Amino acid sequence: MLWCFLLTSSELISLVKEYNSNVNTDMLRKAYIFAMEAHGIQKRASGVPYFYHPAEVARLLAELKLDAQTVITGLLHDVLEDTTVCFTELSEIFGSEVAFLVEGVTKLSKINYASSRVHKAENFRKFLLAMSRDIRVLIVKLADRLNNMRTLNYITSIEKRKRVSLETLEVYAPLAERIGMNIIKDEMEELAFYNLHPDEYSKISLQLDQIRNKDNNFVQNTILELKKILKENGIDANISGREKKIYSIWKKMQTRNVSLEQINDIVAFRVIVDNLQQCYMSLGVIHTNFQIVPGRFKDYISIPKLNNYRSLHTTVIGPLKQSVEIQIRTEEMHRVADEGVAAHWFYKSDGALFRKDEQEKYKWVKNLLTVFQNSSNPGELISHSKLDLFEEEVFCFTPNGDLITLPRGATVIDFAYEIHTAVGNTAVGAKVNNKMVPLKTVLRNGDQVEIITSPSQNPDGTWERFAITSKAKTCIKKFIKTREKKEFCLLGLQLIKCALSSSKTPLSEDMIPFKEYSCGSLDKFYYNIGRGIISLDSIRMILPLSENIGNIYNDSLCITNFIPGVAVHFPACCSPIFGDKVIGVLTPQRGLVVHVTSCNNLGKNKYNFIKVNWTQNDDIYTEFVARLRIVIQNETESFSIITNIISSHEANIINLKVEHRSTDFFDLLVDIRVTDVSHLGDIQAALRTCSLVRSVRRL
Ligand code: MN
Repeated sequence: MLWCFLLTSSELISLVKEYNSNVNTDMLRKAYIFAMEAHGIQKRASGVPYFYHPAEVARLLAELKLDAQTVITGLLHDVLEDTTVCFTELSEIFGSEVAFLVEGVTKLSKINYASSRVHKAENFRKFLLAMSRDIRVLIVKLADRLNNMRTLNYITSIEKRKRVSLETLEVYAPLAERIGMNIIKDEMEELAFYNLHPDEYSKISLQLDQIRNKDNNFVQNTILELKKILKENGIDANISGREKKIYSIWKKMQTRNVSLEQINDIVAFRVIVDNLQQCYMSLGVIHTNFQIVPGRFKDYISIPKLNNYRSLHTTVIGPLKQSVEIQIRTEEMHRVADEGVAAHWFYKSDGALFRKDEQEKYKWVKNLLTVFQNSSNPGELISHSKLDLFEEEVFCFTPNGDLITLPRGATVIDFAYEIHTAVGNTAVGAKVNNKMVPLKTVLRNGDQVEIITSPSQNPDGTWERFAITSKAKTCIKKFIKTREKKEFCLLGLQLIKCALSSSKTPLSEDMIPFKEYSCGSLDKFYYNIGRGIISLDSIRMILPLSENIGNIYNDSLCITNFIPGVAVHFPACCSPIFGDKVIGVLTPQRGLVVHVTSCNNLGKNKYNFIKVNWTQNDDIYTEFVARLRIVIQNETESFSIITNIISSHEANIINLKVEHRSTDFFDLLVDIRVTDVSHLGDIQAALRTCSLVRSVRRL
């Protein structure tokens, strides 16, 4: 077997030189030696040194006539994953282009296809396409997979062989087809089929041998006859007979439910002519001389396949009275059919583009989309090839390699809700590619996302501004709505309780005539009271007429169990913090607004004041923002002293502003997050002990 002999660096270089005489041979040799040394004594499953594998991948790429960067990437494609070599090192030695290509191939290898989240192979294929922003990354990955398939027989675990084969069949072969590399696709399918269904494979293979023996001269005679007829019409064609691959025969037998004997186009004949005009001329000649099998003619020249495949297909009752499939194409179409993007690349690089500068030279090849746009019928190709998914979707994955597909523009919060509603509801941030980022961060293709959660987190309305998936939006809305309902219900109930606290009649639920207020339920009644939709005065109606309750807001209302900012608010005018003397103001629609008793905004309307009682709640962790005005001497170290004092008390500075500055003093406004009044008091006291601080005052 070929791959048992190590390809030497000189052999590789001469392969590349055949189609690219200007290649930098030093760089190729350097990459060869570098990869060999990096893999060192690592071994393949077959027992040969590991380096045999990247060398063979490089050979494949050179056979496809790819540019030097791609061949070098083939040599280096496993060093990031399997050796101690790092990106920076690659970039320094081989340039950033090669380093990025190798990194791209490495990323593709990390994704877990077997994962339960990848329900559809199609999703995974789309993902790989999107990940390979540079088409060459995908080509190297395909070459890598092909070599692994060629050496799959050395893997002893049957289960692993089947898994790899299935993945090849479902993901990599269709990808190869998508970018038109049919030679690679065919070989992958044959190898995968052989490993998945060894019995079927050998059965068909045996039958094929028998058919071949029976019709010894069928292929040769058909070719001669076709050649003769075309020649008579002035067309000099190159004709070959190509046997269908075992896998595609098997597929045909499955889909049409027929036996091998019933498949009459096991051999397809290829007629290769000089130009487009001759393609149609040949077709005319063949159709004139032989009877057409109806329904089998296809013109992929006028309407190319999505992968740029162009050819005329027809089936006729051939010269030997047997039905034969004939494919007619030009030399260039033929190369594109076999090598796809790679052929196209070579075709371009061999022409005018080759002389342009390095960057320009390969620019067009860097994006698969561009390749498709360059084809003869871009509109149709793009709308049918699903490549618009590049625009619409981004593909990210969890630390386990599970794929999460999101619409473009999706953020961390969308990702969190995609995993689970509970993860979304408690998300506080994420590590994207190991860096901490906020929830609103927009995700990009290939991001690895680890959501950080906290049980004390609560979604709030601001999340809706950066959530873009309907799942996230719905969950956030639902959470906020439910919480709002709960909070206003609780407020309503508390209000009723304290309104009736001085009455002799104890509150019982059946006393409340909620239906009279067109409320479907008791909760709805509480909610409407909390919202101020039903006036609290109506509570009087509940009580027996004999009772005179006087001031209905007699008792104080406990605000401890409320989540700040929903039904109970701490306004910015006085920013109350826990421990302050406060009073509540009942505000229709908004709920209860809690002010510091000395607040100027409190107003005179004492009848809607409500006494509140405020204790710590261990379940709801709240922090409050207090604003301090600090006057401090104008010294270089002033700022650092203040921030040191505050942070040593475990308080966060969330805003700092110089309000006034003279030669001697600064007037600073500092907003800090504290847990309660005593926490703030400690900080104020500490600040005052500092000799540079002239005054500290809470605003
Ligand atoms: Mn590899």
